[in-house]
Amino acid sequence: MEEGARSCLLRFRHRLEQDIKPSYLMDHMISDGVINVDEEERIRTQDQAVALLELLLRKDNRAYISFYNALVKETYDDLANLLYDDLPQISANAHKSSSDGWTPHVQMVLSEGGVPQRPVVFVSRPELLNRVRERLYRLQKEPGWVTVFGMAGSGKSVLAAEAVRHQGIIEECFPGGVHWLSIGQLDKPDLLVKIQSLCFRLEQSLDSQSLHRPPNSLDEAKERLRFLMLRRYPRSLLILDDIWDSTVLKVFDIQCRILLTTRNRSLTDSVSGAKYEVEVASGLDENKGLEILALYTKTNPQGLPEEARSIVRECKGSPLVVSLIGALLKEKPNRWRYYLCQLQQKQFKRIRKSSSYDYDALDQAMAASIEVLPDEHQELYKDLTVLEKDIKIPAKVLSILWDLEPEEVEDILEEFVNKSLLFVDSHNKPYLYYLHDLQLDFLVEQNRTQLEVDLHTKVVRQYQQHYRDDPPTSGDEECLYWIRFLTYHMARANLSQELYSLMFSLDWVSIKAQIMGPAHLINDYVEYGPILDKEGRCDNYQFQEFLSLNGHQLEQRPFPDVVQLALSQPPTSEVYRQALLQAQDRASKG
Ligand code: ADP
Repeated sequence: MEEGARSCLLRFRHRLEQDIKPSYLMDHMISDGVINVDEEERIRTQDQAVALLELLLRKDNRAYISFYNALVKETYDDLANLLYDDLPQISANAHKSSSDGWTPHVQMVLSEGGVPQRPVVFVSRPELLNRVRERLYRLQKEPGWVTVFGMAGSGKSVLAAEAVRHQGIIEECFPGGVHWLSIGQLDKPDLLVKIQSLCFRLEQSLDSQSLHRPPNSLDEAKERLRFLMLRRYPRSLLILDDIWDSTVLKVFDIQCRILLTTRNRSLTDSVSGAKYEVEVASGLDENKGLEILALYTKTNPQGLPEEARSIVRECKGSPLVVSLIGALLKEKPNRWRYYLCQLQQKQFKRIRKSSSYDYDALDQAMAASIEVLPDEHQELYKDLTVLEKDIKIPAKVLSILWDLEPEEVEDILEEFVNKSLLFVDSHNKPYLYYLHDLQLDFLVEQNRTQLEVDLHTKVVRQYQQHYRDDPPTSGDEECLYWIRFLTYHMARANLSQELYSLMFSLDWVSIKAQIMGPAHLINDYVEYGPILDKEGRCDNYQFQEFLSLNGHQLEQRPFPDVVQLALSQPPTSEVYRQALLQAQDRASKG
């Protein structure tokens, strides 16, 4: 539903809830085909007006219009008048695209599917874009894969997002919608969590009442996704951003329509169906690079100084690097020569055999961008070294790490974002922040060895100070971060004792299983096994066994009583011992 229509419903929600008689309205809406009999049945069993509005808010423009018409037919003229101004127009005219092909409808589909917005400074790459769109049109009639491949930082993700920002693509090829999934380098449990949340998102938009258990293995996840894509979201497009591994693709080998970005051209060899590809061979061509610099410095491309061309050449047109330099020049427009010299100095030169990408320019640009930050912000930026690749974090996590007020953190993050040192996903509320892979590589490279250990230790200490013995349990973005990554930070900080006490505590098991599911937890025991086993006790085995035996129970909602489950473990086990203590404690408290 368009933003204006939804906002109107939200504004007048209480008034509508108080005044309407849903059963009559629903008859009209059923005959318009915007709600079905099952939905009507379900609404009848609840507070009907509240439930109808709830349902309506998840529907499209047609539902709003049908609801409006129903109000008119049932002579709720006052209420209908409230909705009138925001009636979406679905006449041919209203859908006509603006000059570059997007309409409010397209925007809404992309925003619902989590497709990233354009970067603040954006240049179009029409030739490449047309190539991607032409391949996408081939998926109109049949499922298949479109691979966009090329070097890191060459603009693949931006291109993929741009390709679907197009009315024809959305309406003719993918009327079922577009769903964006950032993948990156991940292991199986993380992949499972990604697909769980995708399924949740897809199911939620159909019907918030459905309380499906999340799939608890990759096989099950694949089947669930297959069902959803075939039956509930036919002719929709999944965009998988930054795939590294063909095992990931196999999970999506379910006869649907997929656009993927990757550095590895041959990934789709192992999956079935029609395949098309587009190469993003290098960076931007020179004129486009200049255009970015011109946009940042608010000059016209012809008026750029001669150093501009050299800057673009020096970084081989990498859009990421040009953006970093552009952001610097925006603030200091007389430093063309200076930044060009910085780019040319190869003092950070390192040999990276694993990739053909020329990292030098990125290193120089990053160093220059960091250098202009105030000293204390340079230190804060350095702290981002501890993030895992492809992980997005809310400002609140950094507010704990930096021990600063959230407002202050937001200002600092805004500064980083303005300098292209950090990116923001503003679809999400709260906003989520992330680094480009190459930026994280840069930070890790700079802060290797001891410094890295110190930084991870700082994360753990700040967490401990903030939460003392009371870990966060709310399930919000910040809590999710800690529950998922606390063990990782402890391990990287070499805090093996602390890691040990945390992971072999039934309370932690219970919280993490409830919030993230048992798969993640089991993965922790496997991953950190070598550290945990050093103590020479069998706790690791016992906890893993407990989780494998009770995994299916721990997937259930409402969440079971972990102490009760643990009491059925062998009495010699540490799991049992802790459960017994807790049971006795409960008994003594009555
Ligand atoms: P990749 O997916 O190939 O690693 P991205 O698409 O994430 O690269 O692009 C990296 C960065 O480069 C973006 O965050 C943005 O700052 C910049 N960028 C990429 N494409 C463009 C473009 N068309 N116009 C302006 N900046 C771009």
